[in-house]
Amino acid sequence: MDCQKKKAMIVAKKKSTEDNLQKTTTVAVAHGDGIGPEIMDATLRIMKAAGANVEFEPISVGEAQYLSGESSGIGKHAWETIGKHKVLLKGPITTPQGKGYKSLNVTMRKTLGLYANVRPVQALHPYVKTHFPNMDVVIIRENEEDLYAGIEHQQTADVVQCLKLITRPGCEKIVRYAFEYAKAYGRKKVTCMVKDNIMKLTDGLFHRVFEEIGAEYPDIKQDTQIIDIASARLATRPKDYDVIVTSNLYGDIISDIAAELAGSVGMAGSANIGTNVAMFEAIHGSAPDISGKNLANPSGLLNAGVMMLVHIGEAEVADKIKNAWLRTIEDGIHTPDIYSEEHSSERVGTKEFANAIIERLGERPISIPSSFLSEGSGTITIPTFKRKKVNKTLLGVDVFIDWPHDNANEIGSMLDAVEKPEMKLKMITNRGVKVYPNGHDETFCTDHWRCRFVSNKTITSSENPKYAQVNMPQLLQLLDAIHAAGFDIIKTENLYAFDGIRGFSLGQGE
Ligand code: NAD
Repeated sequence: MDCQKKKAMIVAKKKSTEDNLQKTTTVAVAHGDGIGPEIMDATLRIMKAAGANVEFEPISVGEAQYLSGESSGIGKHAWETIGKHKVLLKGPITTPQGKGYKSLNVTMRKTLGLYANVRPVQALHPYVKTHFPNMDVVIIRENEEDLYAGIEHQQTADVVQCLKLITRPGCEKIVRYAFEYAKAYGRKKVTCMVKDNIMKLTDGLFHRVFEEIGAEYPDIKQDTQIIDIASARLATRPKDYDVIVTSNLYGDIISDIAAELAGSVGMAGSANIGTNVAMFEAIHGSAPDISGKNLANPSGLLNAGVMMLVHIGEAEVADKIKNAWLRTIEDGIHTPDIYSEEHSSERVGTKEFANAIIERLGERPISIPSSFLSEGSGTITIPTFKRKKVNKTLLGVDVFIDWPHDNANEIGSMLDAVEKPEMKLKMITNRGVKVYPNGHDETFCTDHWRCRFVSNKTITSSENPKYAQVNMPQLLQLLDAIHAAGFDIIKTENLYAFDGIRGFSLGQGE
């Protein structure tokens, strides 16, 4: 960006910040459990001392709510307060273990539509011990779907399943957000991490959307990596990464790895961004082992607070806090989690660390680059999803059967013998591997059989998929016949083509 344009942008931002300074923003605040109240107190004191034009309305969520009988960990008043202010600063929450409580964090992210989880991780070498001095990564994790949809079922004595839901609107939102984030904060590269060599439909969709949307950002470098090798490389060569966009589970795992690589899980903050509401929190948990001892590092929550200030248009105050924090770290004033004889000058508690930051407000770090968040754009707007019309054709059905025996040829012959005038058994798989016809004796079989039925009409054209269309009455007649033959049908999945493209995977070995 040329100098003049940059200057104009800074002036425009400054003006908008001045406009914002005239009105106080109120945000909801949840102090959280364990170390939550201590680190929240430190964070709010620093924000107040820095002159942030923010008021906080407290809400009660978490352990106290769970134990009072609110099984979701959050009550009506808290939902209403978040809905009113649209912004929440949240301390970590303890989820009581072994009592079947659902995670409040996941509930909040999904209920409030917080689709993007943004986790910046930066090494502060040589002031905080790390093997990777140049690490500066932002992980943008999809926050609402994938295996975190939490839809699980036990289907047979042997088998449980968890549905991995990947949606086009979910992919479009998160991928667009990642590119817009890179553009707004001058980042050079976006890396997509997937496992589409195995999950061709789900992770394949994420990859495809990345390429479609990426084409609109030709100035940003982009690549796609398979998650297994990508996480190994992130752990050994983190400087090769800039912005990473990935789905929920992979993002959860790699963001903890990244935070630890940079020095401490206590340092990283995160933003959970939705269309109307945003929630800011540290990436770590409630650390009950050090709670109430004035030992916790408040940096993760403070960094989340810095992101919140940018979000509400207080980017200059955010820079003031971030620079004072960097200076404190640089001066070697460290909480126990990052203290080392080699890198620190003073070991301090949570309160004293906050005091040291307050004393440095207005100062900048000397050798670590200063924070210039006010030069980026705090607000990223994603267009509303527009669903395209597709032509959907029914081609068959996968019938899942609970059959507690292990002879694939026996179940295959029995299903072949079921009278089904319009349809035929195409194959049977067990745990995804084809076992009938022509299976291998070595393949281990559970009691969970996926039996694929398609039209018995032969297709002569070279069209893909090579199945004739069927209709719902034919499917229902088939299910009736299978049931009448004594089989235990546990579920069915219809086989469709969308705009002529097969919408289901082949069996391994099919
Ligand atoms: P944790 O992150 O609380 O603690 C892991 C380790 O890191 C502990 O040794 C802890 O002392 C240390 N640690 C964490 N934050 C620190 C900080 N700010 N300063 C210094 N050291 C810090 O993870 P856990 O022990 O697995 O979980 C404890 C509780 O937190 C559980 O109930 C879990 O469900 C919950 N949790 C909540 C959130 C959230 O609210 N977003 C996230 C993760 C875990």
